[in-house]
Amino acid sequence: MKTAVVGINWGDEGKGRMVDLLSEKFDVVVRYQGGNNAGHTVVNERGKFVLNLLPSGILRPEVVCVMGNGMVVDLEHLDGEIARLKAAGITITPENLKISDKAVICMPYNKLQDVVEEDRLKDKKFGSTRRGIGPIYADKYMKKAMRMGDLKDLGRAKQRLYDIVEWKNLTLKAYNSEVNPDDMFKWLEKYSYLYNFVCDTGEYLLNASKNGKNIMFEAQLGALRDIDLGIYPYTSSSNAIAAYAPIGAGVPSLKVDVSLGIMKAYSTCVGEGPFVCEALDDIALQEHLRNVGGEYGAATGRPRRVGAFDVVASRYGILAQGADEIALTKLDVLTGLEKIPVCVAYELNGKRITTFPYSTELNDCKPIYEYFDGWTEDISGVKSFDELPEAARKYVNYIEKATECKIKYISVGAEREQYIVK
Ligand code: GDP
Ligand code: MG
Repeated sequence: MKTAVVGINWGDEGKGRMVDLLSEKFDVVVRYQGGNNAGHTVVNERGKFVLNLLPSGILRPEVVCVMGNGMVVDLEHLDGEIARLKAAGITITPENLKISDKAVICMPYNKLQDVVEEDRLKDKKFGSTRRGIGPIYADKYMKKAMRMGDLKDLGRAKQRLYDIVEWKNLTLKAYNSEVNPDDMFKWLEKYSYLYNFVCDTGEYLLNASKNGKNIMFEAQLGALRDIDLGIYPYTSSSNAIAAYAPIGAGVPSLKVDVSLGIMKAYSTCVGEGPFVCEALDDIALQEHLRNVGGEYGAATGRPRRVGAFDVVASRYGILAQGADEIALTKLDVLTGLEKIPVCVAYELNGKRITTFPYSTELNDCKPIYEYFDGWTEDISGVKSFDELPEAARKYVNYIEKATECKIKYISVGAEREQYIVK
């Protein structure tokens, strides 16, 4: 079985939480895109963990975790993340962590580039996490990036690095900034021990598949942040969609059997860009969702923008992900709201629309809401769909019907066992 666990919305849907839960039945978990701009929070009996680069399967000792060629890896961050998890008692060895030789290294100058550019943009900024992700993906496609496999023989890689740094400094100098090539080389040398984890992960995954192993692909961010299909330019710089999973994992010949979309029971968005369902005028709703839902970025600590569930955007996200089934998360957060708004359509130039428009047209869209009855009962311990209050069942059933995708799981709390199979 090969399952992709992917985000339907703007990210932070609770992918890490669902990967941690469902990886019990999997042998391998692969991250196939993105870098340490990801923040996947997992709460289980071992504690609370925020994972940025490591796949969320790392907390299960019997699961092998793979970081695929589609990822960009900040070595310094990875070094810190491994140390942090090891200190919390998690075992990480070349046996249970495998990094693609073709994954690209996110360099200190990429981070610097990200920072100076966001500063230049001032109020027009994109809301980058300033971790160099955009610049390093650009370098990758310019074919000016170092890769994990280069750590094997840094002597051989040195001249290329110096040429790249010379080129990079042409840009940085325009921002009154610069990096020293020797420092960059030393930085690579310092973390070159991470080569211990490097292998041809495509070959590893192909063999695992041949041997009947269950493989899970873990996405970062959501469909609306996908570089191709998302709300450009307010996207991430990689493909967050399930169709990219076999490519970013290095096994394009493998097919994903199930695309499991993780969808939040309301909307949140970190960073800039149009967000039609944002609860700008409804301060009470905003405060409820942000405080009860703890909506602050896991990677950055920034308060997340919040609003009602968006049928138009979610249906688009489901199509982009080719989702076969859905895990609806954070339903418990809605407990206590008297009326629950749902954005069922947009108004664009006086017309009601239900298909997701071109990115720039989103700025002119106004949300059209329908209101559902709320509930007051604590649902965080509920184990079956029938036990949910009637209003909660109605809400879930409405969303399932409106988005035209089967809801298989409902998450009612951050902890591993707080979920319902519908
Ligand atoms: P990811 O980036 O998709 O993995 O999601 P994040 O970890 O950034 O954000 C999800 C947050 O919600 C985390 O803090 C989770 O611990 C928490 N969470 C996940 N599922 C639930 C749920 O069903 N209920 C509640 N209350 N919290 C949840
Ligand atoms: Mg997150």
